[in-house]
Order: sequence, then C-alpha cells, then structure tokens
Amino acid sequence: SPIPDYLQHVLDKARDNEAGAPAAYIDVLARADTSKLAVALAMVDGNLYSAGDDQVEFSIQSISKAFVYALAIEDAGLPRVLEKIGVEPSGDRFNQLSLERGTNRPMNPMINAGAITAHSLVVAPNATAEARTERILKSLSRLAGRQLHVDEEVYEAELKDADRNMGIGHMLKAAGIITCDPREAVKGYIRQCAINVNVKDLAMMSATLCNAGVHPFSGEQIIPHASVRQVLSVMTTCGMYDAAGDWVSNVGIPAKSGVAGGIIGTLPGQVGIAAFSPKLDERGNSVRGVAICEQLSRDMGLHMMDVS
Ligand code: GLN
Repeated sequence: SPIPDYLQHVLDKARDNEAGAPAAYIDVLARADTSKLAVALAMVDGNLYSAGDDQVEFSIQSISKAFVYALAIEDAGLPRVLEKIGVEPSGDRFNQLSLERGTNRPMNPMINAGAITAHSLVVAPNATAEARTERILKSLSRLAGRQLHVDEEVYEAELKDADRNMGIGHMLKAAGIITCDPREAVKGYIRQCAINVNVKDLAMMSATLCNAGVHPFSGEQIIPHASVRQVLSVMTTCGMYDAAGDWVSNVGIPAKSGVAGGIIGTLPGQVGIAAFSPKLDERGNSVRGVAICEQLSRDMGLHMMDVS
C-alpha cells in the first residue's frame, strides 16, 4: 500500500515547522522530547496505517474528555448530562474558571470545568473515585484494543500543581453542579488525563466514534450509538478550545486535542486520524499535529463541508 509512504511524507513536511513549545505547567510534559512525531489513520473497515514514532506513548490528556463525556451520557443519561453541562463553545481557554450565566453549568464538556463534571457523572455521582477511574481506564483500553495504564509520574506532577483545577472543582461544588467531594473529582479527572496512549491507540478510539460506536477491529459496540452524535457535535464546536472556528474552517473534521501534543480527528463514516508532536501553539494545540491534520484534510478531501 502507498499509504505508509504518503504518511511519512506528511510527517517530513510537518517536521519543518519549528514553532511552539511543550506545555510548561506540568513539569513532566515540559521535559518532553520535542523531536517525536507520529501519525496514524484507522479506517472504519479495520485498516490501520501509521508512520513515525507510532510506538511512543504520551498522556491522553484532554482527548479523554470526548470519551468520558460518552461514558457520562451512558451512565447518567443525556437529559441529566445536559442539565449539568452545556454544549456551547466558550471561546475561553480550556482551564477558564467560568460557568454559564443563568444555569451555572460549565459551558461545554471539552473545557476542564465541563470535563470534571462529566467525570463526576461516570458510574454514579456518589461512586468512589476508584470506581470511576477504573471504568474509564477499562473503556479506553477496550477502545485502544489493549490494556492501557496511568502514567503515575504525569499524574503526580499534575496533582502537585493542581490549584487551578482544584479551584474549578470547588467552584462546581459551590454551584451545585457536582455533588461529590470536589478534590476526589479533580483527582480522578487528573488520573483520566494521565492515561498513556500512542497514535495507533488514538486512531482506533477515533475510528470507533467514526463507526457509530462499533470498534472497527473487534466489531464490538463500545460507545452506544445514541451518544456518538452528541460527542461528535461537541467535538466539532468545542474540541479545539478557542481555536475551534479556525479548525472547522481549515480542517473541517470533528476533533479533540490534548496538552501532551496528541490530536484526534474523527470523520464520521470514514476515518479516525491521530497525530502526535509535543510542541503546542498558544491555544494549547499541537503545532505539527494541526499541520498534519490540515495536510491530510487537503490531500484527501476530508473537509466535511466539501460537497463534490
Ligand atoms: N490535565 C490537563 C489539565 O487539566 C488537560 C488539559 C489539556 O489537555 N488541555 O490542565
């Protein structure tokens, strides 16, 4: 197949872009090897292609938010989730301490306030933090098709510096949005973000969303069909934080990025894309990862608004 050569070519081109810097606020991430670069494509028919550092693991970070939102919908039901978390793009940074005026809900599940709330709805609002993180790790592992693990070093590093996320947790509790101990919810959320993946894992997770929740390799229905539309809609409007508008117009694929440098793109019915490179732009999205997705979208005509 010519696809691996093509992917290699895309990586070589992306490598020229030297801009950005790894996330500075988590010291383990700040020390990341910025030369690492990888891409993977998982087709809904079960073909997986990858190039570059496709075995290198990094923490999933905010990409987990999309999948944990799906779990919250499965466990609490969509009406309850919508009562607690909005679906409007905030235009704010991902870690903004903000709630929607009037409803007190976090604006959407892709910013930290909404993601911590979604985390608190997994299993049940009164579940232990262990039960929630166990469920999340199990679900992400099924999506990846292999057992995933928490990177304890990343977890500890982020926990040590969690004042801002703890602040968000306490704000949510005070507003009556979360009902559990906010410290436990934030700890669990940080643990969920510290799960290690590689680009092939992410491409398969993404392809499952593309394939109406059915894993393209195992044929298992992992994400209920009814949640998939909701998750993809929110990824489209809010997945790239305050760059969502640029992203939708340039790349035109539902997506989610993480602060360790991962990005997934999810074109319904077709292909799950994953890219990895640690240096981020000022909005917190991987510079080379964005470039790779732009290139793939252009070359393969993936923009969802392109009618041909
Ligand atoms: N764990 C990170 C945080 O809460 C995730 C943020 C991200 O990937 N953008 O700050």
